[in-house]
Amino acid sequence: MKTFTILIVDDSAAMRSLLVSTLETLGTISTVQAPNGFEALRMLPREQVDLVLTDINMPDINGLELLSFIRSNPMYKDLPVVVISTEGSRKDIEKGLSLGANEYLVKPFQPEQLLEIVKRFL
Ligand SMILES: [Mg+2]
Repeated sequence: MKTFTILIVDDSAAMRSLLVSTLETLGTISTVQAPNGFEALRMLPREQVDLVLTDINMPDINGLELLSFIRSNPMYKDLPVVVISTEGSRKDIEKGLSLGANEYLVKPFQPEQLLEIVKRFL
């Protein structure tokens, strides 16, 4: 059985750890991590990623730029992307969704909210 792989992109190591430990409760998934959009773009061709969880505010390439790159690449245009950000205004959320995010989760969030979203893509 193929493992479901989630790429976690966030410049906060603490947030990446929180996401990993929350996702581990699902059991059947594996995770890979990138501290910014630039590293995420380097990892995408090397890993069999099934879902991307990305922060917005990061050095180098931010999450919205990463999302735009992903959606403009035919290889990844159908790859599910969930934005997880402290930017929670309606305008921010609409921007993320209009750029092609499948879901938008505002920090801080409850673990159940994250799991409920991720389960839709398993
Ligand atoms: Mg950040």
